[in-house]
Amino acid sequence: MTDPAKRTSIITIDGPAAAGKSTAARLLAQRLGFVLLDSGALYRCVALHLLRRKIPPNAVRIPEEAISALEIAVEPAAVTMKVLLNGEDVTALLRHESISEAASRFSALPEVRQALLDLQRSTGEQWNLVAEGRDMGTVVFPHARFKFFLIADLDERARRRYLELIERGERADFDQVRSQMIERDQRDATRKASPLVMASDALAIDAGALSPDEVVDRIMCAIEGEASSLNAAR
Ligand code: C5P
Repeated sequence: MTDPAKRTSIITIDGPAAAGKSTAARLLAQRLGFVLLDSGALYRCVALHLLRRKIPPNAVRIPEEAISALEIAVEPAAVTMKVLLNGEDVTALLRHESISEAASRFSALPEVRQALLDLQRSTGEQWNLVAEGRDMGTVVFPHARFKFFLIADLDERARRRYLELIERGERADFDQVRSQMIERDQRDATRKASPLVMASDALAIDAGALSPDEVVDRIMCAIEGEASSLNAAR
């Protein structure tokens, strides 16, 4: 028997940076007609808000007034989730490298994580969701029925991130991208609040040698396989 509290309409995809989560999550959401929750974009949005208020990324505590002045809303959109910061559409500003670095640092603070928890959970109440991030299956949606954890070799992830930056016209140095990735992985995995760990009931997929479509095929296979074994057990 499966736990009736488990939500079939939420699929979580967690894993380290540049393991291919974003593309796979987007394709999966499109295939299923689900909404994509890009939780990294929310942390990036908080980082933008705090940087605008001149709070340095190495701050050890965020003033309460800065957190209470933060109002984030999300709107599902065809390709990327739209993120509104105090009413302003900031979606296009969030992928910049300075925001990546600040998001990685601010996201270690419990008050920042807490500020995003209700918003993330409320998306799961409103829509069928593919939720992508670091703690979707462990903390935000622990009752999701389908959980995946994407991994890929560090060099492959650094290569992907480097090419992504070059394609966007940003200046990038491979060794620097690689060492920043090691640092951010370390920060995600060792922070006290919601560290990056695989949920015990998640399925790990090594996405290093797979195309995004192949990753989605594996995910669909696992979902369909479980759904048919559930039907058979009824
Ligand atoms: O996934 P993305 O690179 O957009 O995330 C930006 C930063 O936000 C990451 O470096 C990570 O530290 C943080 N993050 C997090 N928890 C999530 C999603 C992202 O801590 N669920």
